[in-house]
Amino acid sequence: MSRYSTFPPIPNRLSRLEELATDLWWSWHPDARNVFRQLDYQVWRATAHNPVRMLGAIPRDILAAAAKDPAYLTHYDRAVAALDAERRPGSSWWEQRFPQHSGQVIAYFSAEFALHQSLPIYAGGLGVLAGDHCKEACDLGVPLVGVGFMYPQGYFHQHLSAEGWQEESYERLNWADAPIEPALMPDGRPCLTAVPLGDRSVLVAVWRVRIGRVTLYLLDTDLEENAPWDRELSARLYGGNQETRIQQEIILGIGGVRVLRALGITPGVFHLNEGHAGFVVLQRIRDLLEHGSTFDAALDGIRRSTVFTTHTPVPAGHDAFPFHLVEKHLAGAWGTLGPNREKFLALGAYDNGGGVLFNMTALALRSAGATNAVSQLHGRVTRAMFAPMWPNVPEADRPVSAITNGVHVPTWIAGELADLFSKHLGARWRDRQDDPALWDGVLSIPDDELWAVRQSLRRYLFTFVRERARQRWIEEHVGLPRVVAAGTLLEPDALTIGFARRFAGYKRPELVFHDPERLARILNATGRPVQIIFAGKSHPADDIGKHHLQHVYRRALDPLFAGRIAFVDDYDLHVAHFLVQGCDVWLNNPRKPLEASGTSGMKAAINGVPHLSIGDGWWAEGFTGANGWTIDGGTSGENWDETDAADAAALYRLLEEDVVPAFYARNASRVPHRWMGVVKEAIRTVAPRFSARRMVKEYAEKMYASALEKT
Ligand SMILES: *Cc1c(COP(=O)(O)O)cnc(C)c1O
Repeated sequence: MSRYSTFPPIPNRLSRLEELATDLWWSWHPDARNVFRQLDYQVWRATAHNPVRMLGAIPRDILAAAAKDPAYLTHYDRAVAALDAERRPGSSWWEQRFPQHSGQVIAYFSAEFALHQSLPIYAGGLGVLAGDHCKEACDLGVPLVGVGFMYPQGYFHQHLSAEGWQEESYERLNWADAPIEPALMPDGRPCLTAVPLGDRSVLVAVWRVRIGRVTLYLLDTDLEENAPWDRELSARLYGGNQETRIQQEIILGIGGVRVLRALGITPGVFHLNEGHAGFVVLQRIRDLLEHGSTFDAALDGIRRSTVFTTHTPVPAGHDAFPFHLVEKHLAGAWGTLGPNREKFLALGAYDNGGGVLFNMTALALRSAGATNAVSQLHGRVTRAMFAPMWPNVPEADRPVSAITNGVHVPTWIAGELADLFSKHLGARWRDRQDDPALWDGVLSIPDDELWAVRQSLRRYLFTFVRERARQRWIEEHVGLPRVVAAGTLLEPDALTIGFARRFAGYKRPELVFHDPERLARILNATGRPVQIIFAGKSHPADDIGKHHLQHVYRRALDPLFAGRIAFVDDYDLHVAHFLVQGCDVWLNNPRKPLEASGTSGMKAAINGVPHLSIGDGWWAEGFTGANGWTIDGGTSGENWDETDAADAAALYRLLEEDVVPAFYARNASRVPHRWMGVVKEAIRTVAPRFSARRMVKEYAEKMYASALEKT
């Protein structure tokens, strides 16, 4: 295993640079970020804010000079001291709140984790949630260990054809550029674990990712010892068919439990983030049977220590496999379970409308002691959707609670805004970020100061968009209309609406084009221009999603909209940061109630970018009447055409009568006071309630601690 980073020599005085670079803790600590930014800003930008790559690429004389620069060394010493303080045991929220659970570990299983763009093992919202959960667990000292997949080819890069059709390309990760290292067993050897798959055994290697106090272990089947088709198994995220998918899930679930054991980790709680990791249950039942338990007693013990989070309000979105596939791929996995096979298979049996299948959500629901949905509304939808699981149980008594999602504030907040908070809310505002009283302080930030920050964030976004358009022109020689569609005609001072998320039918990405003439009038109004920036990928197998994307892209090419519609390709965490910080309004118009929660709107709102959204997901509980706008066409239900028309009309009305006038009402010094009122309310109300801090504390108190009490 020589596939991990080795850096050229680093001066002694900076000997811990490598440690800072390979612990993703750096990514949300301003002092640590500055250690890399200030080393060389050009290299920092050229390496896409990836310090591992940066340390490999930076000229040695720059390092030598930095080692002698007192100003730089002050930063460096401060960052190193902060990292050491972070690792000192005893002082964290968790340790003080639950001293009785000291020494316990919570294993968090997820098929994707979005931590940083240098580790492309995520597709969208689910991964971002998992990544933010890990970072917040680190901040709170929650003893979390993540388990996921190392996808050597990650998720795809998106390219658009001249006609706006999405094309996918996969790039092999350059291992030396990623913040990973081989995971070692207690005896110091690299962890290598066999996982039964079908009638064979697949070897799994394990990578370790450091996130401060939290460690993430990533399973990898791309080893020479494995057959070519098994090496391919972990190649890509959601890349294959059902056959690939069930095998990936067996590796994640069964392999994940075995890997933790090999690493000497004995979790007190297993948290299944979405049903993908449901096979954890199978391996754990086997282990308990081997220790003499009966099936029912084993299942009982597993229930007490399993927590499950479901994310999907769309019935078809839940993984379900035909039984013959399950039998085929689990053939070698039964072990001591043999005679109890049918009992295990019954845990997953569920008819979701297409006949009885082995449903991963049903498996998780039946084997977890506590299940939660990801917003209050999604809780109600889930209790109704899976009603047949609990015959004769009234809705309110069905065992699915709700913990509304939140976002990791230090990760998503713009640096300039964080500085403004430090100035007006106190230098230690991050420590109190889930305290609503702290955020009342936003109301006393002078409008002109906050507006100046908002203006400069919008300009950063445009610099970024224009640079990307330039790259496409240089590298791919795209035609001029496509240079326009990439956003080169956007105006730095115009009201800018952002819409960025996965392109899927239920998110209705082209709703705003329902009446093209009316939209064009709104966008092209003299003296009050409005522009919309779109970004997002479609799942590679989702042709309907790709048609939606193409539809939007064609509008970006259409002179009717005068270059005020832009599409930024290859949406990822990096692009997301610029968009949620730099737009003025964040648009979301899903078909209610199909948005489980949504998190991009939270990221935007904490940056002073108010939400303009259907009252679905988190916004159903987040809207206060003064912190953004709710699009309500007044109809919902079966007739989609009617709902779309009514929602589009409501959206236009809000833009024409509320949003645009508020943005362009300026005082003598050109500050939009009415607008700043909404901006401040967005920050004040969303930052404390929809932070990952509030969310992870809820998981800790309602799910983890109560599970630990039962074990
Ligand atoms: C936040 C985020 C998402 C999720 O966006 P939603 O609006 O919740 O669907 C998806 N992709 C990336 C890169 C993100 O940062």
